[in-house]
Amino acid sequence: MVKSVALRLSKHALRNASVGVVALVWGGAAAAQEYPNRPVSLIVPFAAGGPTDTMGRLMAQQFQAFFKQTVLVENAPGAGGTIGVDKVVRAAPDGQTILLMHIGMATAPALYKRLPFDPNKDLEPIGQVADVPMTLLTRPTLVPATLKELIPYLKANGDKVTIANAGIGAASHLCGLLFMSTIGIDLTTVPYKGTAPAISDLVGGQVDLLCDQSTNTVSQIKAGRVKVIGTTSARRLTQLPNVPTLAEQGLSGFELGVWHGLYAPRGTPKPILDRLNQALLATIKDAGFRARLAEFGVETVSPELATPQGLRTHLAREIEKWSPIIRKAGIYAD
Ligand code: ASP
Repeated sequence: MVKSVALRLSKHALRNASVGVVALVWGGAAAAQEYPNRPVSLIVPFAAGGPTDTMGRLMAQQFQAFFKQTVLVENAPGAGGTIGVDKVVRAAPDGQTILLMHIGMATAPALYKRLPFDPNKDLEPIGQVADVPMTLLTRPTLVPATLKELIPYLKANGDKVTIANAGIGAASHLCGLLFMSTIGIDLTTVPYKGTAPAISDLVGGQVDLLCDQSTNTVSQIKAGRVKVIGTTSARRLTQLPNVPTLAEQGLSGFELGVWHGLYAPRGTPKPILDRLNQALLATIKDAGFRARLAEFGVETVSPELATPQGLRTHLAREIEKWSPIIRKAGIYAD
């Protein structure tokens, strides 16, 4: 008697459980099939017209063609990109809001005493996108033209020289920090909401130096609107064959690639993440997208890195790599 009650109960429980599983699988499949049935917002956590924005807009075009659905870039700048990241952390996990963020995702935990999110836990990684080299620039009217001339100039005038960045946690901030600590000089930093406004001020002579991604700088360099001291890449960029790397000018080990990743809010259903990943893989393989990035000396990552695991592992490693370097530099924001 007792046994049969137990049996009945377990059959009932089993039936309920399998109904649940079927509903979940069916619901997930349906969500993926329908997704996206409304416009998707791609959050770019820096100002419009800058390097992250350029990458975001090129990706949005690709995603739009893949999904046959509108994909809108929304700029949410401030605090070195952390405001925009937080916006996505707090967004509904339904695939309607996604995020493009770069290496700053890995430096923010050490740079911010009170970061409102944990990059390793509060977002769903979708995949890496591309690595972007940086260039160290000066205003066009600054006299030094090479690193060899610039270093003594900075040593003599460091208290008057300014270096722009896109806020604490931006790639431009990290590059400036590394540069200053490598040559042992402290300059006055001037934060902007992105490097689009920063480079305008550099062209206009309101600030003296800026280290920024090639996505934003190759055309300005070619047009002679700014002066370039060197690149942070391991090899010279084919687009700027006469511009030496900083490493070849003696800043050994000064290599910095600004890797970019795509994320969704934590809890976004797996079928939606899978669709987003398919769109990302199609994007990095697209000849037109690759050709546009190549104009800035940028290569897309290999398909294994454009995966949730590829980004998750890289992000965790990069947080471990940068945290001690930043702590040693003693820089942080409240
Ligand atoms: N990504 C740039 C930086 O980190 C800023 C920008 O995109 O405007 O410096």
